[in-house]
Amino acid sequence: VKVIQILSGGMDSATLLYWHLRQGHDVRCISFDYGQRHRRELASAASLCDGVRVPWHMIEVHGLRSLLRGSSLTDASVDTPHGHYAAENMKQTVVPSRNAIMLSMAFGVAVAHDANAVSIGVHAGDHAIYPDCRKPFIQALEEALNLGTWRDGDKRIEIFTPFLYEDKGYICRRGTELGVPWELTWTCYEGGRHPCGKCGACQERAEAFAAAGVKDPLV
Ligand SMILES: [Zn+2]
Repeated sequence: VKVIQILSGGMDSATLLYWHLRQGHDVRCISFDYGQRHRRELASAASLCDGVRVPWHMIEVHGLRSLLRGSSLTDASVDTPHGHYAAENMKQTVVPSRNAIMLSMAFGVAVAHDANAVSIGVHAGDHAIYPDCRKPFIQALEEALNLGTWRDGDKRIEIFTPFLYEDKGYICRRGTELGVPWELTWTCYEGGRHPCGKCGACQERAEAFAAAGVKDPLV
């Protein structure tokens, strides 16, 4: 199975990468530079791929930054909300149509590389605040993208989301089992030198490591 994986450099997509390799998939990763405040995650994505000799490509969509205003991840005038990941204020971190944009681009790469699937590490904990991490959206997009593509016979390109119904504690346990080098991953939305420990992403990471009973090497 040939897969084009979206890799942010965080723990979910890092685990997804190692999951693909365990399944014996032929994987190629792409990351997006959309002007995110925590663009430090791109260096993590590069190191993760380097460590397992998986081809990595970065797609720059810088021009989007100024247009995708209002999200704390792309708009410098919006502060990164602190507090619990699932809380209402975390809606400030939603980047408009991010997964539609990234999955559509990955799908195009999949068509061009004659791949069978694109994959993304969305999980159950994302559902509350990110509508584009939910099953109905992923399913509808998969349908739409296949409808919009010339295909050989009934060949379809699937969107793999193996962690869709799992929580982040599961991802941490599974990733640990698969040997994910957590020290190479980046989660914090602030993108400073060290994780801030206060933003929703840092809190969610801490909860996941606690649930899995694993020590986070970044803390
Ligand atoms: Zn943080």
